[in-house]
Amino acid sequence: MSDFVYDIVGVGFGPSNLAIAIAAEESGRPVESFFFDRKPEFAWHEGLMFAGAEMQVSFLKDLITMRNPRSDYSFLNYLAQAGRLPTFVNLRTFYPTRVEFNDYYRWVAAQFADRTQWGTDVVAVRPVKDATGGVELLEIVVRELATGAERTVLGRNLVVAPGGTPHLPARVERSDRVFHASETALRMPRDFADGEAPHRFVIAGAGQTAADVFMYLRRAYPNARIDQVIRGFAIRPEDDTHFVNELFAPHMPDWFYRQRDDFRAGVLDTYGLAAHTGVSYDMIPAIYREHYEDSVVGGDALRLHRFTELTSAREENDRAVVGLRRLDSGKTASLECDAVILATGYRYPMPIPLLDGLRDHLILAEPGRYALRRSYDIETAESFQPKIFLQGYAEATHGFSEVLLSLMPFRAAEIVEAAETGVPVTAGV
Ligand SMILES: Cc1cc2nc3c(=O)[nH]c(=O)nc-3n(C[C@H](O)[C@H](O)[C@H](O)COP(=O)(O)OP(=O)(O)OC[C@H]3O[C@@H](n4cnc5c(N)ncnc54)[C@H](O)[C@@H]3O)c2cc1C
Repeated sequence: MSDFVYDIVGVGFGPSNLAIAIAAEESGRPVESFFFDRKPEFAWHEGLMFAGAEMQVSFLKDLITMRNPRSDYSFLNYLAQAGRLPTFVNLRTFYPTRVEFNDYYRWVAAQFADRTQWGTDVVAVRPVKDATGGVELLEIVVRELATGAERTVLGRNLVVAPGGTPHLPARVERSDRVFHASETALRMPRDFADGEAPHRFVIAGAGQTAADVFMYLRRAYPNARIDQVIRGFAIRPEDDTHFVNELFAPHMPDWFYRQRDDFRAGVLDTYGLAAHTGVSYDMIPAIYREHYEDSVVGGDALRLHRFTELTSAREENDRAVVGLRRLDSGKTASLECDAVILATGYRYPMPIPLLDGLRDHLILAEPGRYALRRSYDIETAESFQPKIFLQGYAEATHGFSEVLLSLMPFRAAEIVEAAETGVPVTAGV
């Protein structure tokens, strides 16, 4: 182990920690940061990277522009460097494709190549005690996935940004035919290579991902039968109307953090369509039209199962078998198909297994939820000096922007500002 001490060690190098790298660089202070990511190279939600799918936020909500419009790391500078600024402007849109935004993120990531190690999993974090028994530093254990080799680095602050964990409902047995939507673009072309075959697919879920998967399947498998299972009556539009969208204004985490737990929970419940549960407004008529056109030619390829819960799913004899229950009548049924795609969301489970080695030092607000400070770090005893910052985990206390892109530049700057820094002792790893 080198005795070099990083000011910031990042777990993951998705958009959240890309924003940290930029904030550290632009902070005007010497901040030594280093980031590990288990992916072999930068890729943003590659399992859902469908051609033509658009961003749900304005390109101005890139990694920096809202906080520092003069930054070198803006989407506009990326366009200029790529030679596409005039043509992008002529597109007259605020909403680039996800493919292009992924390329923008990759362009930013490449500029921090000297502070990044890909193909490397952060597997454990341990306290380093000082002479008085207090904890001064963190020892972070990383494993190179290609070789299995492990090493440790020292850090004063850890910024944990591993993204959401794909959520599968109970009684779902994951397999090659039953999988989370986050794997769709990776599995489908490989496992269902014949685009003309009369496959039958089931999608569970009514949010944006379900809508994206539906359109992808409809285009890639024009002869397939597609059953979509939704708990409610209808697919509903996201609410990004002007007043509601102010939930994502930069001052909102401050306001949200000051409210009572039950009041915050009420806001999250009432405005779910602003963040998680809604589908882009333009996609709803497009999906409806697909259903209509199917009805014109006979009408048995597309089926929306309303008020229906997927109660189980498993692979059996080279087929997938799905259990369904109607929420109105209570009737149950089972359905056989080629694959079940679960667009059932992501979770940010706490306590975080990676932080097990620090368990005795981290304070919980309630079982299963860390006590988080306004500056996104977990409360600890005074004798524990390092700071553990979380990104994505603070929706209950900081509001909807936690899991979305809108306020990443601001959150990153607050974290860098709150991080302990010190003078490095020797050369880096
Ligand atoms: C398809 C899709 C589209 C979206 N579009 C939008 C949008 O338009 N607007 C919006 O506001 N939000 C959007 N979101 C929300 C999304 O959460 C954010 O876009 C964003 O990806 C969150 O960034 P992140 O860096 O926190 O997590 P991620 O992007 O998930 O990145 C986390 C990274 O951490 C790495 N990692 C995890 N654990 C470890 C470990 N132990 N060691 C090393 N590396 C690790 C992973 O490999 C990954 O690269 C979208 C989400 C999805 C799924």
